[in-house]
Amino acid sequence: MSTLAVPGLLQEVRRYGRFDVNACLSCGSCTVVCNLSNGSASFPRKPIRRALLGLKGSLCGGLEPWLCHDCGDCSVACPRQAEPRESMMTLRRYLIAQYDFTRLASKVLGSRIGEILTLSLVGLLVFALVLVYHLYYMKVPMTVSEFVSTEMGFEHMFPTIWNFTIVVLLIPAVLLLINTIRMHRLALPGNDHVKIPLRSYFVEATTAFVHMFSHTNIRKCIQGIHKIRWTKHWLLGMAVSMMLFIKFFFLDWFQTDLIHPIYHPQRWLGYCAAAILLYIPLDILVGRIKKRVEMHKFSEPSDLILPVMLLLVALSGLAVHVFRYLEFALTSHILYAVHLAIAVPLVLIELPFGKWSHAFYRPIALYFQAVRERALTEEKVDQPSEELVPAGVESA
Ligand code: SF4
Ligand code: SF4
Repeated sequence: MSTLAVPGLLQEVRRYGRFDVNACLSCGSCTVVCNLSNGSASFPRKPIRRALLGLKGSLCGGLEPWLCHDCGDCSVACPRQAEPRESMMTLRRYLIAQYDFTRLASKVLGSRIGEILTLSLVGLLVFALVLVYHLYYMKVPMTVSEFVSTEMGFEHMFPTIWNFTIVVLLIPAVLLLINTIRMHRLALPGNDHVKIPLRSYFVEATTAFVHMFSHTNIRKCIQGIHKIRWTKHWLLGMAVSMMLFIKFFFLDWFQTDLIHPIYHPQRWLGYCAAAILLYIPLDILVGRIKKRVEMHKFSEPSDLILPVMLLLVALSGLAVHVFRYLEFALTSHILYAVHLAIAVPLVLIELPFGKWSHAFYRPIALYFQAVRERALTEEKVDQPSEELVPAGVESA
């Protein structure tokens, strides 16, 4: 891994958010106070120094920004108000752009206009596809005025919407998989050049799943608020996962939901997930607007766009369900097009290229870190200590 300084790295990093560390004295208080930092993964001071020194290779090969859970304990402890929490957030955005082979993440995360424009374009494209489908591909094609005035159910779309949903979910999955391979190339064997035995990948295989589904490291942060934050984060993760899981494997549930009685478990699973998807993004937005805690003190546009989109997806999905249940066929048909125009950009853009990708990269980084630590430990065990080396061996 190159240790050469890259001029302009700091400016490059600053495209992705606040990185105002000129006041930093390198005192290390932030690293001492951080409960997630440890000997083999020391942060936030270390990755911030790498960026300041222009060490691009070490910065991109480091996993530390992903091990940070954005709690803000370090910023509270910093005697110079250098905002290390914000810098770590910026480094995560920068790393997402480095992993992404399409370079779209750089446009989405590096520019507020770029993100809004990309999301809007994909939303408009979805509207256009809905229109084209009704005007040209239905058994009985319609005119535009018929499309906006005809009372239709959803049944005519069922086979098409199944194929469309699977494609929309598979695209970000494939993109994230390719970017994970690039992340692996950059981050392993890592800045300490440890040799990683294949066995370590298998032994630590459960780490990614444990962190993906538990987010348990949040609970280690100091302030009491993070215990509640963990609960909310976990509930949101479960609600989103459940919705994606249902869409991927049980789409016919959605298509036949009206024939199920009110006590059917499918309905209540959907209602619980919808309630969580309404409450928690709203709570995040209120927190960020009121700036009551350190972690909400500064928000980049992408910090607001994700909860806003989640909220709109939940609201539009709920509206479709209510109007469908009330048999307002035309309203629910139009609302469903609106729902798709918000949900599809959320999945196609925010998941592989935007802030949402942290839900994927963080557990993978924790997995890679666990693999690296295991390899380091085994390497140390395999090396005989100085006292055990027989006399004369060294000179031989
Ligand atoms: S960011 Fe603040 S706490 Fe951390 S090393 Fe710099 S001055 Fe010290
Ligand atoms: S924000 Fe929290 S987890 Fe991240 S470096 Fe600071 S103290 Fe550690």
